[in-house]
Amino acid sequence: MRCFCENKETYDLKVEGDVDTDPIWCNLCGCNFDIDEVPISDDLKEELMRWGMMYGEWIEWNKDTLRPSGNKLENKHNTMGKQLTEKVKKELGTKYKVRFSPSSSARMYARLDF
Ligand SMILES: [Zn+2]
Repeated sequence: MRCFCENKETYDLKVEGDVDTDPIWCNLCGCNFDIDEVPISDDLKEELMRWGMMYGEWIEWNKDTLRPSGNKLENKHNTMGKQLTEKVKKELGTKYKVRFSPSSSARMYARLDF
């Protein structure tokens, strides 16, 4: 897949949820991929997109605060993300390196409350 890296192609990826963004990134230059460019099955793409859309449901965006039990929601999201990363690894094969980058925004928000 093409990205901003020097050799214009990367096999080093990370899975990370973010607001309104496809959850596959180049692990080296941080470039975000269109999920349609990732050579994985449509089923897995859909699962990843659904997972990505749930990102941040532990945050009350209009108040910019953590929802009650937001930590739990984020942990659940991270557990699912880890499982999806394993599926991506399996489908992409050994040519690619894929790592999961867990969300820590709930912890960040929790700290702001003190
Ligand atoms: Zn890159």
